[in-house]
Amino acid sequence: MTAFWAEPDFDAHESVTLVHDRASGLTAIIAVHSTHLGPAAGGTRFWHYADPAGAMRDCLRLSRGMSYKNAMAGLPMGGGKAVILADSARTKTPAMLAAFGDAVEALGGRYVTAEDVGICEADMVAVSKRTAHVSGLPVEGDGSAGGDPGPFTAYGIYLGIKAAVAHQLGKDSVAGVHVALQGTGSVGGGVARLLARDGARLTLADINAERASALAAELGGVAVAADAIMATPCDVFSPNALGAILDDAGIAMLDCAIVAGGANNQLAQAQHGAALAARGILYAPDYVINAGGIISVATEYLARAQGRSGDVAEVNALVAQIPGRLAAIWAESASSGLTADAVADRMAQKLIGRG
Ligand code: NAD
Repeated sequence: MTAFWAEPDFDAHESVTLVHDRASGLTAIIAVHSTHLGPAAGGTRFWHYADPAGAMRDCLRLSRGMSYKNAMAGLPMGGGKAVILADSARTKTPAMLAAFGDAVEALGGRYVTAEDVGICEADMVAVSKRTAHVSGLPVEGDGSAGGDPGPFTAYGIYLGIKAAVAHQLGKDSVAGVHVALQGTGSVGGGVARLLARDGARLTLADINAERASALAAELGGVAVAADAIMATPCDVFSPNALGAILDDAGIAMLDCAIVAGGANNQLAQAQHGAALAARGILYAPDYVINAGGIISVATEYLARAQGRSGDVAEVNALVAQIPGRLAAIWAESASSGLTADAVADRMAQKLIGRG
């Protein structure tokens, strides 16, 4: 394995901690990319990697992504990420989670963890027995911040789509605007419901075809096959399922004016931001438009650290700032000639003191 600081994804990370607990068998990496704005926040991924170098790459890349995302969400939090290297049977024991909690605690609050792939709320509750530096715990009461971040993510995307429609199509409402949604799960389903309320025209697709059909029937939309959604002629294509869908073939297929959705890492490679722009398609950078969930999780954590419970109104007020951030990105993109994704990265770097 190459030294991690020679990895292309190493970006002057403040610290990278290798954790091994012989008694429980826990092996983990905790990367703190930046604490410039506050404690480094980012989820813990529990994954079986064929090669430990893959775990290091994921941790370095995802922790930098969290710095950018938290900064652009306007949160007083830096960026970090943890990866627990699972064995091929994906053995996860209470002792491993306790040892992981101890490792987070040993960082003294420089890193705040949460759920990610392979980790559930019950795992976070177990980790919280050993450290207070955890967010995404069960919601404490009606109207309190926390709980499922999906609805907050969906609300931010809905507001972002409205901003994109105003910017690109000059319309102050999404009534009659045709939105094609890929993925009708927690996020995509929530976005579709909010858009339907405003009279948008919806085409929906999911690899779970029944889920898309049921939602289309409920909302008065149309369901199409999952492999047909990217080529659907529409005003807005909203990806809310997989990452890396905006590659050469995917972009060539699009028949829309706007791409705005919640999936993480939509651009397959950096040059695909320019490929979208070359086709005249307005792009809402994924980590800016989908920040509603992290805003909810962070608000819950910050409020608890102050001995109070944050409330939903506080979260929604922060999520409501997403459209303004997107508008600033598109304005800067138009004046500088840089693509929207490059502008977002540049703004984020400046916010974390690396401009
Ligand atoms: P989810 O599992 O609830 O829903 C995903 C849906 O996409 C499922 O219904 C699945 O069947 C469908 N799907 C998978 N592959 C598909 C394909 N090829 N074509 C069409 N549909 C497909 O997940 P979610 O929480 O709604 O998250 C969706 C995306 O948003 C993910 O990329 C996730 O990383 C991202 N995201 C989610 C949140 C959140 O708060 N949940 C926050 C930020 C980003």
